[in-house]
Amino acid sequence: MATAIQDVQAGRTAIMERMARKLDQYLPESGELRKWTISEIENALIKDMNEIARDIIHARLDVDPERVVKKARCPDCGRALMGVAGERSTHKHTRLGPIEFARTVGYCPVLN
Ligand SMILES: [Zn+2]
Repeated sequence: MATAIQDVQAGRTAIMERMARKLDQYLPESGELRKWTISEIENALIKDMNEIARDIIHARLDVDPERVVKKARCPDCGRALMGVAGERSTHKHTRLGPIEFARTVGYCPVLN
């Protein structure tokens, strides 16, 4: 089983390789420069940078076991959730696009 540090390194390596491949579209080390307008570059960059940003979020979620709080708390009152049985796949619409992740599920002892 990989250690957390190796997971971080693997995540960094994968993201940096992906960034390098994307950078090649804009600033290739060799070969011809693609002909495109500033608007085309702008639109491609927005898409590519958001993809990289989402990759970073996913990598961060993957390598951060502490993010999965040992005592998950109610988002409304802050009390420890009851009946925490596991994780459920969910997603969040961020300004960078949708992010899928697993979240701890339980119920609030007060609001229940
Ligand atoms: Zn509550």
